Amino acid sequence: MSLRTKVAILGSGMIMVSMLTLGSLVIVYERNNTLAELELRARSFLSVLGIELTESLASNRIEDLDKLITRLLDRDLATLDIAFVAVLDQDRRIMAHTDQARYGAMLDDRFSQDALESSIPLVSRETRNGNDMLLVSMPVSTALPGLPGIRWGTLVAGMELARAKADLARLGWRVLAMLLVMIAIAAGVTVVVLNHQLVRPVGELAGAAKRFAAGSLEARVRVRGSGEIALLGETYNDMAERIESYTRSLEDKVRERTRDLEAANAKLSQAMDDIRHANRRLEELATTDGLTGLFNHRHFKGLLETEVNRSRRLDFPTSLVMLDVDHFKIYNDTHGHPAGDVVLRGVAELLQSRLRGTDVPCRYGGEEFAVILLDTGKQMAMAVAEEIRSRIEATPFDGQESQPDGVLSISVGVATFPDDAEDHAALLRAADEALYAAKRGGRNRVIDAGSEPA
Ligand code: GH3
Ligand code: MG
Ligand code: MG
Repeated sequence: MSLRTKVAILGSGMIMVSMLTLGSLVIVYERNNTLAELELRARSFLSVLGIELTESLASNRIEDLDKLITRLLDRDLATLDIAFVAVLDQDRRIMAHTDQARYGAMLDDRFSQDALESSIPLVSRETRNGNDMLLVSMPVSTALPGLPGIRWGTLVAGMELARAKADLARLGWRVLAMLLVMIAIAAGVTVVVLNHQLVRPVGELAGAAKRFAAGSLEARVRVRGSGEIALLGETYNDMAERIESYTRSLEDKVRERTRDLEAANAKLSQAMDDIRHANRRLEELATTDGLTGLFNHRHFKGLLETEVNRSRRLDFPTSLVMLDVDHFKIYNDTHGHPAGDVVLRGVAELLQSRLRGTDVPCRYGGEEFAVILLDTGKQMAMAVAEEIRSRIEATPFDGQESQPDGVLSISVGVATFPDDAEDHAALLRAADEALYAAKRGGRNRVIDAGSEPA
């Protein structure tokens, strides 16, 4: 249930209860007033009647009583709401009555009995024949100063309360209607005032707090007037202000730290790139030959061992081609070392361009090269070797005409695993021997390790 509904119910309820209490008090007051007025009226009526009757009673003129009663019947009874009037003698016998049929009868009800015994007027409220009545009695006596009074008789009258009650009921309805109008007006005013003073400011405060909690740190309330609600709004605004500035400064710090961290990360990643690059370079330097870019001797030996072992495991052949430039010392001596380097680079390029992706050319040392031919048998290896040799021979190296044979050539030895050797070391030896056999045989040729005479 919303605060607005609660305030409306509570406010209206309180107003209703207080108004109805006030209304009840008014009605009770009016009722007592009416009864007192009726009683007073009855008493004064009986007093006057008593005075008029005293003489007739004292002189025992019963017919005068009749005349008086008859006159009453004609005149006062209806206007005064008097239902009956009776004159009783000392024995409770009716000497006169507005209902003439009751003459001579005895009045033996409790009130009449009390009235005869009392020397002062009595009043009682009773229900007779279904009618609510006010009974009033008045002793009729003469009293001379200093002498005991003589009691001549007793007057008893009954007053109808029906009309008074009807008047009271009408008054009650009028009061109720008035109260309802007042309740409606008061409740409306209360609800409007409470709404303005309490419900709306509290609602705004709750809304701002909710938005603040959802992340809108700038959510504030409008503070109106003074008092507790205004103080609550001011306190909320103050608190929100502090939290906002604290959060903003925290966010700034986090941003700053993040920037620092990102810069540090960038540096770190740059350093790692540099390290990776340097490692790659180191690896290259460790495995490649600086002059030709081919794998170096050390790497070649490792590779050869690995490939021969794999060849054994998977049962396929591997061939090794060893080649050496013929009379290279002469070339160097004639054209200079740098020109010799150019030749070596030229040989390396030719090896690389000729070979398949699976073949691995290496610089074995000096002007000597080796090529590992993977998954290649002797026949194919011999063909490859021969092709390399013939292409070197056919290549027009600068100044080659000064070589002993008029051309720059190579000698080649070919060995195949497992045909010519049991392991990589033996394979290397076999190829080397075949190479030297080629040298011995006159250079610029290919020798198969398997064909070499022992
Ligand atoms: P053979 O036909 O018997 O192989 O005769 P050769 O002269 O080629 O053999 P030798 O072993 O007598 O000479 C090899 C020469 O290779 C000696 C050396 O100056 C040269 N050499 C070795 N490494 C390099 C190099 O990196 N650059 C150059 N320019 N020459 C080199
Ligand atoms: Mg050599
Ligand atoms: Mg040589």
